[in-house]
Amino acid sequence: MADLLFSNANLIDGSGSPPFKADLLVHGDRITEIAPGLAAADAVRIECDGITLAPGFIDSHTHSDLQVIEGRMEKLRQGVTTEVVGNCGFSAYPPAPNPAELRSFANGIFCGNDTWGWPSTEAYLRAIEASRTANVASLVGHGSLRIAVAGSRQGPLAESELLSMESLLAEALSAGAIGFSTGLMYAPGSSAPTDELQRLCNVTAKCGGIYTSHIRSYFSGLVEAVEEQVDLARRSGGRLQISHLQAVGANNWHLQSQAIRVIEEARAEVIDVEFDCYPYVAGSSVLTQVLPQSSLDGGIPALLSRLRNPVRRRAIREETLRIIPWRWSDIHISSVGSERNLDLIGKTLEEIGSERRREPVDAMLDLLLEEEADATMLCFNQSTENLRASLTHPCSTIISDGFYVKGRPHPRLHGTFPLLLGTISRQRGWLSLPQAVHKITGKPAARYGLKERGLLQPGFYADIVGMRAAEIDSPATYESPELGPRGIEFVYRNGERAVGY
Ligand SMILES: [Zn+2]
Repeated sequence: MADLLFSNANLIDGSGSPPFKADLLVHGDRITEIAPGLAAADAVRIECDGITLAPGFIDSHTHSDLQVIEGRMEKLRQGVTTEVVGNCGFSAYPPAPNPAELRSFANGIFCGNDTWGWPSTEAYLRAIEASRTANVASLVGHGSLRIAVAGSRQGPLAESELLSMESLLAEALSAGAIGFSTGLMYAPGSSAPTDELQRLCNVTAKCGGIYTSHIRSYFSGLVEAVEEQVDLARRSGGRLQISHLQAVGANNWHLQSQAIRVIEEARAEVIDVEFDCYPYVAGSSVLTQVLPQSSLDGGIPALLSRLRNPVRRRAIREETLRIIPWRWSDIHISSVGSERNLDLIGKTLEEIGSERRREPVDAMLDLLLEEEADATMLCFNQSTENLRASLTHPCSTIISDGFYVKGRPHPRLHGTFPLLLGTISRQRGWLSLPQAVHKITGKPAARYGLKERGLLQPGFYADIVGMRAAEIDSPATYESPELGPRGIEFVYRNGERAVGY
């Protein structure tokens, strides 16, 4: 393969430093030289006048666990060359004795079918290594670990089960997983006592992995939930990343600054804690996330049988009304499993309730039954002011948290990175372009231990995005989320062209 010479480029190197003019030479899969006026007569010359080069973007929190293997292009088109999967307690391994149980647990987030699965942790890790679209690193999901040893049963586990989880986790970390994730608002992980988490965090820290957490509450219990995680990190001595930090629901918005203060105080104690966040005020998840997670004890089949029992259904209904942080008009249906309710996609639960002449909560419970819980939502969570505070905080890494749906996905799946560099940085001026680039390149690479990635530097992998800084943006909206980005000229991954010229 001939060398590549990117000439006369404006370089943003991923460290947060100001841009500078230079040529950049690539040999094989590596960057070999960066300097003005490089002479490389045999190299293929790529004229970069008017183009800004940045390191390939790193999406350090995604749910593309299956799609990175399928060769989907949504991320690459945005300039993303590296993804970290296995977040929020969901990973495609370790294999469960009953593979259908793992699929039932994860499919809402993975957008999976009824056939995926790998015979071993190593087999999955080899499959992602061979991805044609991304450099992929993976976290071991706590929910998946639990399913492997105890199925979807909730509550404290027996000592023998805890020992099995510890050894499966240690095995996965030695086979190449880079850390451990929890999803403490998703059954069955939500039912785990802190002691169980401590033991697994200790294993993770001992193996040098990172621990990431979708914490127990982003609602009224946000601050206590962050404190629980900080305590785990204090005792384990390991690295902690709080996932998609935010306060959900207008009544809770004032809690975000308190949660950030807990993180800052922990850092002052030399606890290694940071957080990630996505650049949208809306989030998305499975629709069952609105329910009390105890209603999912035993998995989806058990939930459905509870919803068919009038007494139990009433109890779930009352508890849902007690805990829900959203207004019903904040929750939009983004996908449904069957054909019969396709017309509901894009509608709010308030609208669906009024169409069906039902209270929104009843309309939702009906819908969960009709769809056998196979439904996802897009929900308006946060204030713009809080979003700005989290995105601009020195401890934040910016992520998509994107996941695929068979319906209308959240626009973050198609637009996070161009939106950050365009709307958030260039238009609103919340972050300078080098700062914004740093939060999706050098910073996550260092945080997740992704060696020789995340910077434009000799010796590093040639993951390179070429963009027009005055144009880059995402036109994707909540209504039309699949519109592709503007202003990305080309993307190279490991020295090979992946998008553009
Ligand atoms: Zn999450």
